[in-house]
Order: sequence, then C-alpha cells, then structure tokens
Amino acid sequence: MSLLDAEAIRTAAALERLRIETVDEIGSTNLALMDAPLGPQPAPARLLAAARQTAGRGRRGRAWLSPEGRSLAFSLAVERRVRAQQPPAAISLAVGAAAAAALACWAPDVRLKWPNDLLRARRKLGGILVECRRGLADAGADGSVIERIVVGIGLNLLAPPPGSIGQPACGLFDGEAPPVRAAETVIGVLAAATVPAVHRFLDEGLAPFVQAWRRLDALAGEEVALLEGDRVVAAGRSLGLDASGGLRVQLADGIRVVHSGEVSLRPLDALR
Ligand code: ATP
Repeated sequence: MSLLDAEAIRTAAALERLRIETVDEIGSTNLALMDAPLGPQPAPARLLAAARQTAGRGRRGRAWLSPEGRSLAFSLAVERRVRAQQPPAAISLAVGAAAAAALACWAPDVRLKWPNDLLRARRKLGGILVECRRGLADAGADGSVIERIVVGIGLNLLAPPPGSIGQPACGLFDGEAPPVRAAETVIGVLAAATVPAVHRFLDEGLAPFVQAWRRLDALAGEEVALLEGDRVVAAGRSLGLDASGGLRVQLADGIRVVHSGEVSLRPLDALR
C-alpha cells in the first residue's frame, strides 16, 4: 500500500479530469513531470505527489528539504497550445496568492514573500517552483506547439527540526495535532485552488491576482535586502508588487523594479 492515498487527494481536490498519482519516494516531483514525454495534444492536468522527496529543488539550484513525515511535496502539470507567446513568467505569483488563500482555512496568518515563498510569522512555510517546457518537433499545422507548465509546491506540515534549514522555518500545524490524512487533504485543497488559478492566469494574466497578492505581502513597507546568492547587493524599502510581477524597492538613489530570477529578498533585520 502506498504511503499517500491518491483517493483522499482526489476527494479533497474535487476536480474533474485531474489525473492523480502518488509515489512513496522520488527525487523531485517537478523533475518527473518535466521529463515525462509530451503527447501530440495537450494532456489533461496531472498531479504527482510524493511521500518522500530526496532531491527537492528551489530556485536557482537551491535545495528544498522534506524531512520525512513533516512536509508535503507535489507538482501539477498543465498543458496548452501556444504560438509565439512569452513563457508565463509571473505564474508563481498567481499560484502563491491562490495557495495562501486556500491555506487560510488552517492558518489565516499565511503570507507571501516575493516572488515565491509562503511564510508564517516571517518563517518559511513553503515554496513554489514553476518550470516550463515546450515541444519543438511536434509543431501543429498552425505553427503551435504544446507548452507544459509544471507547478511544484513544497510545504511543511510541521516545522523542520531546528538547525536543519538555512533560514527560519515553520509548519502549517505547529503546536497542534495535524488532522488525519493531513498531507492528502492539504495537497487536495492546494490543487483545487492552484489548477483554476493557473488557467485564469493563462487567460487573463496577473491582473486578477495583484490585489490579493498585495494584501498578503509579508514585507510590504519593510526594510529589505536584495541578495545575489549570499551577497547583499542593495537595501531599501519594499514598495510591493508591480503590475508586471516585479517588486518595487525604494533605494537611496530611486525606485528599482526587480524581477524574479535576478535576486532574492530578505527582511533587513533578519540579516543583522
Ligand atoms: P528566494 O527568496 O530567492 O526564493 P530562498 O532561499 O527562499 O530564496 P528557494 O529557492 O525559494 O530559495 O527555496 C530554497 C531554500 O528554502 C533553501 O535554500 C532553504 O533555505 C529553504 N528551505 C529548504 N527546505 C525547506 C523547508 N523544508 N522549509 C523551509 N525552508 C526550506
């Protein structure tokens, strides 16, 4: 019997046409969905959840650690036909806003840290990693190709053991007993929020998510540092999300808009 119950995820997600698979152990759920071959037509949405992820990934080659039994890891793949559109870079912001809203039924204090982190009390609860691939050889008669968007979410159910993570971390059920089948229920609820958010983003862009994101911004108005790797490259006051998904920061010499991929953001007081 598998450690994760796919039927319990299906019940919590209540999404038609979502293919759900669970595995006991995997390197990375994102990598597995990215590597799966593309078919001739866009496939229905697919969810892969792992009880143990041994090589979970964050942005820019960083690791996402899943201490056994204390965290969940799953990825969703959504496919569509595209022609020359830009890859949907800001999609992790839409997913973050939807995920934080969905988690409020357990923890109303879940907030967002630009660009892709879920926080509680400034401690990292979860991370979102979005990756994309496009078919080449199977271009349709109209010049379109299939694009697969893979959204990975890693989330702590309970805080990781102290000292095991390089930054302050927390869990969704810290200080309380997690409900029965907590991982499956949370995965299902997150999927129910994320799949429609991805489709809405693809249809309407970031605009429908900006207000919600700003309301949940953990660091709006705060003094922040911008890091390249471990190096602080600038410090200033966060002015929050701009309409394109960048972050506006008031620096001594003016306002700079930073884009995800360029830098990491930290509250300045966390570095002192
Ligand atoms: P950014 O702000 O650029 O996203 P980040 O350091 O949070 O920076 P991510 O790529 O989002 O980077 O996530 C990877 C980082 O998350 C790791 O370097 C580690 O600090 C932290 N991390 C890894 N596993 C966990 C976990 N289970 N809980 C909380 N934090 C974790």
